[in-house]
Amino acid sequence: MILQGVPASAGYAIGKARIIREEVSHQPVAKIDPSTVAGELERLEAALARAADELSRLHAKWIGDGREQEAEIFEGHLYLIRDEELTSLIRSKIADDYFQAEFAVREAAEDIASRLSRLDDPYLQLRSADIRDIGDRICRCLSNKQEERAAPGSEREILIAEDLLPTYIAQLDNEVVVGFATSLGGATSHTAIIARSLGLPAVIGAVTNLERIEEGQTIIVDGVEGKVIVDPSEEDLASYGELRERYLRRLNELRAFGNRPTRTSDGHLVELTANIGSVKEASSAADCGAEGIGLFRTEFLFMERNDLPDEDEQFEVYRDIVQAIGPEAPVVIRTMDIGGDKELPALNLPKEQNPFLGFRAIRISLEKMDLFKTQLRAILRASALGNISIMFPMISTMQELSRAMEAVEAAKRELAEQGVPFDRAVPIGIMIEVPAAAILADRFAKVVDFFSIGTNDLVQYTMAADRMNAKVMHMNNGLEPAVLRLIYNVIQAAVAERIPVGMCGEMAGQPLAIPLLLGMGLQKFSVSGGSILATRELISRIDRREAQELLKDALELDDPDKIKACVEKWYANRQASIMMEVALGKSQ
Ligand code: PEP
Ligand code: MG
Repeated sequence: MILQGVPASAGYAIGKARIIREEVSHQPVAKIDPSTVAGELERLEAALARAADELSRLHAKWIGDGREQEAEIFEGHLYLIRDEELTSLIRSKIADDYFQAEFAVREAAEDIASRLSRLDDPYLQLRSADIRDIGDRICRCLSNKQEERAAPGSEREILIAEDLLPTYIAQLDNEVVVGFATSLGGATSHTAIIARSLGLPAVIGAVTNLERIEEGQTIIVDGVEGKVIVDPSEEDLASYGELRERYLRRLNELRAFGNRPTRTSDGHLVELTANIGSVKEASSAADCGAEGIGLFRTEFLFMERNDLPDEDEQFEVYRDIVQAIGPEAPVVIRTMDIGGDKELPALNLPKEQNPFLGFRAIRISLEKMDLFKTQLRAILRASALGNISIMFPMISTMQELSRAMEAVEAAKRELAEQGVPFDRAVPIGIMIEVPAAAILADRFAKVVDFFSIGTNDLVQYTMAADRMNAKVMHMNNGLEPAVLRLIYNVIQAAVAERIPVGMCGEMAGQPLAIPLLLGMGLQKFSVSGGSILATRELISRIDRREAQELLKDALELDDPDKIKACVEKWYANRQASIMMEVALGKSQ
């Protein structure tokens, strides 16, 4: 069986299916017959014992891996699961209210969690996320489901799921999990972005019905063409084995493009940097030949935990990134961009109906000034040690920008008063990812030091096509004429004010977009670490004057498919790299 989806992360993976089913998060009110209370209580005790056992094993595993901070989380959960407050409330909801066990667990966890989140003590507020997490675990144990994060077995696995969280992907054991396929998500979802930076082949929007795949079935994930092959024939296995070898060989050959500047074939230098979410990724970006960091998504520092990193901890991370990539190399640190598909448990923000249009990114920072100031102080302190710039995400209005810049000034004043060193001329830039900012780019360009175009969001907002929704993937397309025109306007506005303009959205690494962007005069490309070498190779084969001609033709067209065909034809008339062919799906 072949399931067609959208390619989310290139490469080929072969392994056994491990199915991760979505938790039942909203149980209907479920009452039981009073005569079955004893049986339901027994079921609960068994689930509590199993949950405690899982937590002890996870605690031991993380300690064994030397990750004490994570281990502490499980220790805390173990304590809470043994604590009478939660368990006796669940028991009474079963015995006195005749609730079914799963429903009793949800209700009890929610009662306690919402009580905690209303308290003034921030420590206790944070515990509410833990209580909900424990409730999920007990419910899963009640329905006898496996622990998703259990210590992996030794076989190569392909994860099959409705959806996977970015943090879940980030903590996977790459030796075991070799690829994944999901029903939901988009090519620019953060789950897909992390998969690309880990080099983990992935397809989204393919597995429309999880029941069609059985646990342990052999699966091929073709992250180039967006196919999932279930139960492949011997022939499929052989030909995909070969494709995989060829792909890996090409990656190896690309190493020749590691230590050189990025220059078009007619000699124009462009900057090619990496997008990262951790210190580890900064090191691998350096190994991949990145010239710097064009986007550090700092929100990942805040996400995998239930507390907030303080100023010193953040400073150390920013410092380590500078050290990993080198003190001369540019490092753009973007302030926290929580919201959308990135949740921050510590803030315990309510679920929103339209999270990408909601309380997100700079909107949160401007409301939670203490949090913002702490981050700005940490970035400024690190700026004394390297070539750091500060970037604000999701700026929509000039007023937001001035408030954010005032916060930087206030943080600078504080540090100066305390005699703490920092770079007084640290450049301040903004993401151009909201159409409002793109439309007013000429005004913004007079105020900031640089632009970085965030196409992952700019495309979804311009086209009103959710980047997480495979159903509208066909509209979430950077080659749409409206998007191209908007990007071109932004670049022209920046050039007119002589400020540097780059792109850190995924479009910057897409072979079909790269010649158009060069033609528009884009100066900086920031891509995921795994795309650095292929992007450098591709740019080195492109003549910028020819790209300008191509752009002229493309901007005349009204249809994204025609624009695509126009770029493909242009490539076909030139010496296209094999990596480009692979990316275009012509790898046979
Ligand atoms: C973007 O929107 O293009 C971007 C780079 O930011 P993020 O993917 O983190 O939203
Ligand atoms: Mg964005």
